[in-house]
Amino acid sequence: MINKQSTSLRINEKTFNSLDEFALQGRGCATTRPNHYQIERNDERLRVARIDIQRIESIEIDVQFIHILDEHKGKITEDQRNQQIKVLNDAFKPVGITFRYSPNHTKEHSNREWFKMDHGSAAERQAKSALRSSPERHLNFYTAGLRGGLLGWATFPWELEGDRDRDGIVILHSTLPGGSAAPYNLGMTAVHEIGHWLGLYHTFQGGCDAFGDHVGDTPSHSGPNSGTPDDSMPHNACKAEEKAPVHNYMNYSNDQWLTEFTPGQIERIKMHISEYRSDFIV
Ligand SMILES: [Zn+2]
Repeated sequence: MINKQSTSLRINEKTFNSLDEFALQGRGCATTRPNHYQIERNDERLRVARIDIQRIESIEIDVQFIHILDEHKGKITEDQRNQQIKVLNDAFKPVGITFRYSPNHTKEHSNREWFKMDHGSAAERQAKSALRSSPERHLNFYTAGLRGGLLGWATFPWELEGDRDRDGIVILHSTLPGGSAAPYNLGMTAVHEIGHWLGLYHTFQGGCDAFGDHVGDTPSHSGPNSGTPDDSMPHNACKAEEKAPVHNYMNYSNDQWLTEFTPGQIERIKMHISEYRSDFIV
């Protein structure tokens, strides 16, 4: 059975009994699920803005890599950064986004407490306040060791105005291409977290409730998928005629299985960039 791997899995110093167990605990994504009020307020703001996404031709995002180390632990090579940027450019090409970075501006900082940071912790706050570049002009891309079992997290675009210091994504260092966090070491954790950073929710958000992930063309499903699920099967799709989006970047399948944003997600990313991150539009 493809979707029921029974071998145990060790991710970021924590052992899980199976890929399913890891996915059900969140595929290590600690991005906060927005509350009902935040969701409604954002939707209303996008509605009122009457954004014409046809006018957005090209989007360029400067990536500020910030590698938090514990002595030598967490080191990222130039080749890994290049491969990660290539993965991002391939994934976001349908959106019209180009990511680039300058090797001369990569930051490295060793701090044992910050290396083990948790989502929402004082260590996260301190590290970001000290190391960030301008969040309006950069994607602050932090790598670190993180609390056991986590792969990463992101802030949402509407959080930028109220909290500039926290903006960006935090990624387990070994998920970058060539890292040791197999089967999550092809760089898709960064794609997934940037999806959040540009306003997307998980495809299974809300389960089978009415609004789901607020994107019309992602089939709603009752919870995350994991491993390499057979895409000819419906799995946990809510409607009988639909299939769970097992290849969607905002689901929890293995890195090798993640290959797509839907047109509805692409439209929503562009709306969020226009409304909250317009300095990236060229
Ligand atoms: Zn996530």
